[in-house]
Amino acid sequence: MIARRLPAAGRDLLGERFELDEGELGLDREELLRRVRGAAALVADPTVPVDAELLDAAGPTLRIAANFAVGYDNIDLDECRKRGVVVTNTPDVLTNATAELAVTLMLAAARRVGEAERVVRAGRWAGWDPAGLLGRELSGATVGIVGLGRIGTRVAELIQCFGPELLYTSRTTRSETIWAEWRLGLERVGLDELVARSDFVTLHVQLTLETRHLVDEELLARFKAGAVLVNTSRGEVVDEDALVSALTTGALRAAALDVFAREPPVGSPLLELPNVVLSPHIAGMTADSVRELTRQALTSVVDVLAGRAAVGVVNPDALAHPRQRGQE
Ligand code: NAP
Repeated sequence: MIARRLPAAGRDLLGERFELDEGELGLDREELLRRVRGAAALVADPTVPVDAELLDAAGPTLRIAANFAVGYDNIDLDECRKRGVVVTNTPDVLTNATAELAVTLMLAAARRVGEAERVVRAGRWAGWDPAGLLGRELSGATVGIVGLGRIGTRVAELIQCFGPELLYTSRTTRSETIWAEWRLGLERVGLDELVARSDFVTLHVQLTLETRHLVDEELLARFKAGAVLVNTSRGEVVDEDALVSALTTGALRAAALDVFAREPPVGSPLLELPNVVLSPHIAGMTADSVRELTRQALTSVVDVLAGRAAVGVVNPDALAHPRQRGQE
């Protein structure tokens, strides 16, 4: 069962081996609950909650929920564990694309590209003005990276050439983090210090109960005056009401957002603010990354159903469940 829609190459890969039922971008929940019954595999994405209701609707045939994304906060891992459903994601394939968009948004907010474009398009540009739409440079600025995983590390690599001071915060100490710290000249600090010192704060944590509203009113009050917030992680990592206040009072200079608490963010006050750069959750999406994403997500389906080792398994315990051997 493909909950929404796959690129054609993905449909071919699965269609050679399996009977496919493919939803469409607007497939409604009731329809999905009806059509998923009896599926061996479910291909979901961040817009599809994979919870007890959906797992029960699929029934005991379901062996894998393959998420068409790196983040899997839409999937209830506990419920999958109880039923022996393997969950996979697609690490690495979106790293560079997402990091490049984070840097694009950072520069767009710094140089007020959205505002500037709107002025030109509306015919409001009265001519060159040495005092108009002044931005700020990354060179010499302090950039704080929250979450030095795959994407956070790639962002640090990409912005090296602008010459900022780079800070990061991390929950644990892993060898990759220490290596990145040394190789890229990063300074590790606590979150409060990071936001107090950074001109740009860019978010790269996964969404969990711990990181939901990590950036809330209290933390925003600690940000350096005039800082810019960039979010390409998940919308719910930021308390959007608190963000709107900070942007309205000028405590924050700007925000650049690819992700929102509710997507699409219809009616959100963020859409009315001039100092916000917006993109519609496209950070990971390039022609190359989506080709790799498709290949990886669907190869995991083929491998799990064949009982082979698969890439991107986030709950390896489920592989030992009787359901995976058809003994349930
Ligand atoms: P990753 O390699 O797992 O990195 C996440 C990092 O966040 C880890 O290093 C983790 O470190 C750190 N972290 C978790 N909680 C933290 C906390 N409270 N404070 C500080 N650091 C914390 O994942 P990734 O591949 O870089 O992807 C990150 C997220 O980006 C994904 O989960 C997804 O939500 C989002 N994403 C968005 C798009 C898009 O299109 N907008 C595309 C791809 C990914 P520890 O485990 O050591 O704590």
